[in-house]
Order: sequence, then structure tokens, then C-alpha cells
Amino acid sequence: MAHQTARLFMLGTAAIADSAHENVYMALTSGDLSMLIDCGGSPSSRVMQAGLSFTDLNGLIVTHHHPDHIYGVPILLMNLWLLGRRGGFPIYGPQKALQVIQRMMDAYEWGTWPDFLQVAFHEIPLVPDTPVVSNQDISITASPVAHPVPTIGLRITNRRTGKVLVYTADTMRDSRVVHLARDADILIHEATGEYYGHSTGADAARDAVEANAQRLVLVHYSSVRGNPEAVLEEAKTIFQGGVELAEEFKVYEF
Ligand SMILES: [Zn+2]
Repeated sequence: MAHQTARLFMLGTAAIADSAHENVYMALTSGDLSMLIDCGGSPSSRVMQAGLSFTDLNGLIVTHHHPDHIYGVPILLMNLWLLGRRGGFPIYGPQKALQVIQRMMDAYEWGTWPDFLQVAFHEIPLVPDTPVVSNQDISITASPVAHPVPTIGLRITNRRTGKVLVYTADTMRDSRVVHLARDADILIHEATGEYYGHSTGADAARDAVEANAQRLVLVHYSSVRGNPEAVLEEAKTIFQGGVELAEEFKVYEF
């Protein structure tokens, strides 16, 4: 039933933003909860374009501190503030990512902005199956993945349907990724290509097979430095379930 459904709105898909793709970030909604996951360059416009309420966002989860995943945080906070949002705003992430966000905000002298949001930083330890957010509708846990900097992937369970969506964040192949993705109904797996700390389409497909995922969605691909169609075909030769490229503004229901 529709009201039981959790939705992940893809706000960006790219490893390198181009004319048609923003960097990878997404919005999760379930019941009254509405969270951003990572934060590309134009969060207010993308969230509104997706048909969601920007000022009702309940918080942000960041997977790691590489710029393509967090550079939008200052304008996210500033636009929330300009639109009248007050009170607390939680940001969850690995310690290092939270430190970098604090330093970014310090560079903008956020302490001098009157009546600014009270950002509460919640460190996610690099331990498998760490609870992040949980209510009667949904449970979000984090597990470390294999990237050159401290990085977490997310496992989101819709408690009402029992369905699971997993987002790997940036990672190369690793048993921890398979653990994170175990029996996922939707596995959103990065497929940057042959770069250290990242995955190819074949790597993503092997993780999907080993984890027994049902549907594989490839993300963090590049249309300007790679060939997403070739990445997709490569994955299809290995994973026999449904495989697709993530699309901007597509909604993944679970
Ligand atoms: Zn990265």
C-alpha cells in the first residue's frame, strides 16, 4: 500500500557533474521522516524539483568527506536558514566528515549568523551495523566500506514492508560491502570504473550476486570520462537480476 512505502529520490548520479548530471546525493522519505543522504551542489533546487518540502528536511547523513559528497552542505544550511527554518538540524557521518563540514562552516564564519540553525553533529563509528536513525517506520544502519578515507554505506529497512534498500557510497570490492548488501531488494552500488577505491560495473555486479540482491542500480558513474552504457552491459553479463543505471529524479520505492 502506498502509505507504507518508503521512497528514495535520486537527486544526482554522477562521479563528475556535467550538463545533465549532478554529483551523487539523494533524499529518503518514509512517513513523516525526510532525510538527505550526501549533499551535492544545489540541494534546495533539487529537493524542490523532486516535489519534496525543503524546509521540512529532518537531517542529513554524509558517507564521507570527499568534496563531491559534501560540498553542498554550506548552501544547504544557509538556504534552510534564509527560508525561515530554525531549531535543530542533525548531521550524521564519520568523524572525519563531520570535522571537514565544521571547518567548511567555520570558513564562512557561521558563528556570526544571527539565529542560525543549531546543527547537531552525530558521529557514526566505523563499526558494522551501527544504528543511525530509527522510528516505527524505518531503520537506517551504517557499515564501513572500502574507500581510501573513512566511509560508510547505508542499509535502510522499511519496517512496514520488510523491504531493504542499500547504498554503498564510494567503495571498492570488499566483504563488508557484501555484508552491508545482504538480501537487499534494491542495491544502489557505485560504478565509477577502474579507479583505486572504486568499483567497476563488474565489481558492482559481483557484489550483487554474492549478497543475493534482487535489483542493482548503478550510480556514481561518469558520462564525460567514461561510458555508462558499457558499465551497464558489463554488469548485466554477471548479475542476472534487474540492472539499471541510476537516473536523476527517479524514485526508488521499497
Ligand atoms: Zn569518495
